[in-house]
Amino acid sequence: MLKLEDTYLHKGKRKALVALLREKGIKSESVLNAINQLPRHFFFDSALISHAYEDKAFPIGEGQTISQPYTVAFQTELLNIKPGDKVLEIGTGSGYQGTILHLLGAEVFTIEYQKKLYEGTKRFLGRLGIEMHLFYGDGSEGLAAHAPYDKILVTAGAPIVPNSLLKQLKIGGVLVIPVGDRKRQMMLRLTKKSEKQVIREEFDGFAFVPLLGKDGWR
Ligand code: SAM
Repeated sequence: MLKLEDTYLHKGKRKALVALLREKGIKSESVLNAINQLPRHFFFDSALISHAYEDKAFPIGEGQTISQPYTVAFQTELLNIKPGDKVLEIGTGSGYQGTILHLLGAEVFTIEYQKKLYEGTKRFLGRLGIEMHLFYGDGSEGLAAHAPYDKILVTAGAPIVPNSLLKQLKIGGVLVIPVGDRKRQMMLRLTKKSEKQVIREEFDGFAFVPLLGKDGWR
């Protein structure tokens, strides 16, 4: 049985991580507060737990990673989550990013392509008592059955902006997605002003694992 302990040592390391994220330019107090609240080491394999408060991505199995804390903070800040927002996350992975969205008051829908990760994370979030809607499948085309969403977050690197994701956004909704080649991506924030008008903003380069599936890398 996995023991979930959040000691003073963990809390201290988390505080230091939050200070580092602030230094690196993260400004949103609500995002920093959520990161300070959530024990990242709960989402780690026991062999790697001592690394949980480094600002780095780490393996979570199936060739996938839990994103770097800076990346989680940056993407979450771009989304500007408001309590009650209906949010779709593509790439559940460990469940860490989804839990940050949940702590910010979002209703989270999240979809994962790797069955083992989906099953493990669903079990684990159930044990933590975190309520979100988890799905198994290809999220590169979104999750039409539960659309429209206020916000959509893609946590894997995409070759293009899938049209279906823009379609599944409400008017006024925001899509945050890293787009580029398999190694390096620009972070895009797309705001849907109307069915015809989308405002596009580009941010720094990031390196994500690839978005697989129909509208991803095949
Ligand atoms: N958000 C995750 C977390 O907090 O641990 C980290 C995500 S990891 C960087 C990217 C995830 O996207 C992987 O778990 C991968 O299996 C998943 N993924 C890749 N292509 C996908 C697709 N088409 N649909 C759903 N998930 C996908």
